[in-house]
Amino acid sequence: MTLTTRFAPSPTGLLHLGHAHSALAGFSAARAAGGRFLLRIEDIDSQRCRPEFTEAILRDLDWLGLEWDGAVRVQSRHMAEYRAVLEALDARGLLYPCVCTRADIAAAGAAPHGPEGAVYPGTCRDPTRAQRAARLAQPHALRLDMGRALAVVPGDLWFCEAGRGRLRCDPARFGDVVLARKDTPASYHLCVTHDDAVQGVTLVTRGEDLLAATDVQRLLQALCGWPEPHYAHHRLLTDGTGRRLAKRDGAATLASLREAGRSPAEVRAMAGWPGQPARSPSIA
Ligand code: GLU
Repeated sequence: MTLTTRFAPSPTGLLHLGHAHSALAGFSAARAAGGRFLLRIEDIDSQRCRPEFTEAILRDLDWLGLEWDGAVRVQSRHMAEYRAVLEALDARGLLYPCVCTRADIAAAGAAPHGPEGAVYPGTCRDPTRAQRAARLAQPHALRLDMGRALAVVPGDLWFCEAGRGRLRCDPARFGDVVLARKDTPASYHLCVTHDDAVQGVTLVTRGEDLLAATDVQRLLQALCGWPEPHYAHHRLLTDGTGRRLAKRDGAATLASLREAGRSPAEVRAMAGWPGQPARSPSIA
């Protein structure tokens, strides 16, 4: 099977060196194995994503010397596919509509904290038919009934992490995760897992901040019968004080480095890939 990696940025801002590191990790792994490197734009959150940032991402990657294979997949153009997955899960009794606000969840009190914040206390779980119909008629999220989901997946879930071997998943610590939000009809976990499957991604390269999310994503793969990719979570680049580079803290963008006269090779080196030929001989 051809090794296939991807870079899957969300166009909520300009790319910085941390993104360049991530993109180069996927690109280099693919090229070293004679495989494919895909680009996916994760723009399902219409409140935060902007088309001009998508344009900027394509421009920055091109400037950096990263060539992706095939067409760019833009998630917002595939909403019907995500809806179909949600409908299939719902038909199996694995989802329920939830009308709780953040304040409701906080007020329900003493929720233990999972990797993504407060674990949902289950207020809307197991609705009667009438409750379900009433909630579906209002703005609602769709949550995965974690208990039921785990009951239909036989045995433990694992994933293969580069350099660490097989890691056991514990999706239960996330509680009943949201698979469709009130304002966005599909969640990150759902879209990312669906797309890795339909795009034939065999190696997920991304930052180690998403290591925990793999537990939920392996569960979705098992529920939906999707193949299991391998994973390589890379370190996160930090600034001089050890803080992780982030858009919100104004980390140097690739565009600003370009404007300041840095070359693509210099920026690749700053992103932790010194001397790495960005184009393999086969595609030069
Ligand atoms: N779109 C996600 C982000 O920009 C990355 C998703 C992934 O690599 O799994 O953080």
